[in-house]
Amino acid sequence: MNDFSDHIGIIGAGISGLALGCTLAKEGYSSIIFEKNNELGSHGAGISISPNGLKVFKSLGLEESLNHSSKLGLTSEIYSYDECVYSADSKVRTTSRESLYKVLLNEYLSLGGSIYFNHELENIDIPIELFILKIISPIKFSILLLAMALNQNVEISFLVLI
Ligand SMILES: Cc1cc2nc3c(=O)[nH]c(=O)nc-3n(C[C@H](O)[C@H](O)[C@H](O)COP(=O)(O)OP(=O)(O)OC[C@H]3O[C@@H](n4cnc5c(N)ncnc54)[C@H](O)[C@@H]3O)c2cc1C
Repeated sequence: MNDFSDHIGIIGAGISGLALGCTLAKEGYSSIIFEKNNELGSHGAGISISPNGLKVFKSLGLEESLNHSSKLGLTSEIYSYDECVYSADSKVRTTSRESLYKVLLNEYLSLGGSIYFNHELENIDIPIELFILKIISPIKFSILLLAMALNQNVEISFLVLI
């Protein structure tokens, strides 16, 4: 059995998995991301990042990289039929999902992170402290974090193993 108990396992190379990997690396923790697809996803061509999300990019030191590949909206307006009922300065940045992934992926890899594509988590077996991947043999982790918001089809008894 592959023993990665000195790494933190992250399931899913989406925005949260990549941001989590960067955060852990900056705190000195090694991680490995397992992604079921053979490349990063691209559902939803554009993505707008609210001030809360922008704070995360700032704390990761990625504000400048994100600013290069995104635009700050000038105003946010809400319409009721033809009438504008709310208008305010926008604090939301809009970019493409592809660019957003690129910023996070480059940072994660430059911090020494690894991604295994075509590796799908199918279930977690708590009593023997391992989780089973579809393609390769069982892998042992002491900590496993799930970051797979839009596609949850895994049999899970507990979210984190410590
Ligand atoms: C069309 C659309 C437009 C959107 N627009 C916006 C927007 O403008 N602003 C905004 O803030 N949010 C937007 N969202 C929501 C946003 O996309 C999600 O909140 C965000 O993608 C969640 O990121 P995540 O990393 O948690 O999950 P995901 O993006 O779902 O990433 C999870 C990853 O885990 C992988 N995975 C899943 N199951 C497994 C498994 N068993 N084993 C291994 N890997 C697995 C998936 O392949 C995927 O790569 C939009 C969503 C959609 C669908």
